[in-house]
Amino acid sequence: MSTEAVAMARQTMEFQAEVKQLLHIVINSLYTHKEIFLRELIANASDALDKLRVLALTDTAVLEDSPDLSIFIETDPANRILKISDNGIGMSYEEVLENIGTIAKSGSATFMQQAVNQEGANLDLIGRFGVGFYSAFMVAEKVTLLTRPPKSELGVRWESTGDGTYEIEEVEKKTRGTEVILQLKPTGPAADNHDEDFLNQYTIQKHIQKHCNFIAYPIRMNFVTEEPESDSSGLIVEGTKQISISERTLNSIQPIWMKNPKETEREQYVSFYRQHFHDWNEPAEILHTKSEGKVEFTALLFIPSQAPYGLYTGDPPKGPQLYCKHVLVVDDCRELLPDYLRFVRGIVDASDLPLNISRETLQHDAQMQVIKNHLEKKVLEKLKGMLADERTKYEAFWNELGKSIKGGLFMDYRNTEKLQDLLIFESSRSSEQKTTLQEYVDRMPEQQNSIYYTVGESRAAIERLPQLEVLREQNVEVLYFLDKVDEFLTQHLREYAGKKLQSVSRGDLDLKNDREVNTDEQYKELLQFMQETLKDKVKEVRLSKRLKSSPVCLVSSDSGYSLNMERLMAEANQPILRATRILEVNPNHGVIKALDKLLKNADSEARLSDCCQLLYDQAMLVENYKIEDPVKFANLLSSLIIEAYAGGGDK
Ligand code: ADP
Repeated sequence: MSTEAVAMARQTMEFQAEVKQLLHIVINSLYTHKEIFLRELIANASDALDKLRVLALTDTAVLEDSPDLSIFIETDPANRILKISDNGIGMSYEEVLENIGTIAKSGSATFMQQAVNQEGANLDLIGRFGVGFYSAFMVAEKVTLLTRPPKSELGVRWESTGDGTYEIEEVEKKTRGTEVILQLKPTGPAADNHDEDFLNQYTIQKHIQKHCNFIAYPIRMNFVTEEPESDSSGLIVEGTKQISISERTLNSIQPIWMKNPKETEREQYVSFYRQHFHDWNEPAEILHTKSEGKVEFTALLFIPSQAPYGLYTGDPPKGPQLYCKHVLVVDDCRELLPDYLRFVRGIVDASDLPLNISRETLQHDAQMQVIKNHLEKKVLEKLKGMLADERTKYEAFWNELGKSIKGGLFMDYRNTEKLQDLLIFESSRSSEQKTTLQEYVDRMPEQQNSIYYTVGESRAAIERLPQLEVLREQNVEVLYFLDKVDEFLTQHLREYAGKKLQSVSRGDLDLKNDREVNTDEQYKELLQFMQETLKDKVKEVRLSKRLKSSPVCLVSSDSGYSLNMERLMAEANQPILRATRILEVNPNHGVIKALDKLLKNADSEARLSDCCQLLYDQAMLVENYKIEDPVKFANLLSSLIIEAYAGGGDK
């Protein structure tokens, strides 16, 4: 558009509905941490400079006549104007429409409103939702954006008061990059808050040093200083004032990852993390490592304390940034970490990579492979350390990101050894503390040969399962697999420390049992009858060793699909594969004895067959599975009640 001879005339446009909603929240609900708008605008400027620098690697013409990449802050206190400019990549007309008028991540406004409702506005929600530009409206009553991409004749002017519409037009702009001009809101009585005086140079300096110290480009500002004049002999002359203006660089610039870890405070890392990765939460772990072997590199990685936005919804966060000798060469370098560690944010600065390295080269580059293996190892060590030393923190991490670690087990069998020790599960032993597999094994009595687990939607649902009755009575610990993916995990992790992982709903349980198993003989005929009646539904009907007070339960065979997998596949609309069902019957339950009695009565065959159907459906219901024909189930049940209490016969 900008190459056309005629500039786009001024137009007034409506914000996308979601943006309106967002602006409304920003303007009306967020009133603390106002200074973060500075961090957000500077982060945008820094990103824009990064992008330009990457472009310049292959096309130096984009640098035009201003190769010194920097950010500039200007104030005009008399008019309450604050301006932040960069000579970065800028935006074309279409890009402004797309980036500033709309919001890519749908649902952000709703999430933000929910967060405001739940947690109040006393939080840096802007940082969490990645909608930085709009934070300007926390402090400004009008925002003007002037921007121009490199090698372009025309720039774009965008302006809005945040009220639902914005103006946009093409204009002349001499310099490359972006200027964000804020007409600050008039100060109210609360403005004696020095921290919110964004026209005060010391306030700005303080906020920049706190939030943007390690931005890789100089953030400059003209500083006005007043000093008394001195006479020719150097003595201060009382009552005089000399005003001088000098340009200052407000930030330290030296990349934080090049600092000595021993001389770097956690606070500095945290501030860098927040600023650079737009995550207001403190990271769970920080990993600063230098490798001086065959491949030289420095890495600064952060394990977040919350799953990054989009991690589990198909919009995964960016990979680490790859720098070469402090220059960003790849912004989203997924090749640096295995996919299952996608949640790790960070920076890798290598010494020997070509600056114009291509995607294809990255994938096959031997150095990259070395770095990747090294980083994976380091991250896993860090997690292992956290698990060992900071259990509460690890459990919190696990709740957010454990799923990813499990993903690592699915992706590659070679990871099993490394990852199995990081798994933690709920168990029957305690509702408070999770357990590792090793801890479970350490507690196992000598005669126990398997690690028992069961899959379910919640602790409560699991604890109602009939399959657990005898195990509970015998005090056998059972792991509770509550995550949907856990079922599939068992396909990859069949044993641990030589002990088989055994589902309580599969195969035969290797339990001590003081009951007479020879009751098999006693109920042989009944079992045969049931088997025949239910032959379309179950592979086998057998007496159970795991039931105590329930009459029946369903289990599946040791191999093949489990019932839960069948359900998960059905939910995921995968071709339905049926699990092999085995109906287990409790020989000590009154129902079985009653059925046996019916069996001995020649006239009751139809009734007995109804009861078998009912019991099967009951077993399905207890597990929260759908039954095939609920109407038939209900009718059978009604007729049984009538038979029992209304004198019988009336079906
Ligand atoms: P985010 O930075 O999280 O993507 P923002 O609302 O802060 O969200 O910015 C939206 C987009 O606008 C950015 O992704 C970027 O493409 C563009 N943008 C913002 N500020 C600048 C700038 N100073 N220079 C160039 N592009 C910018």
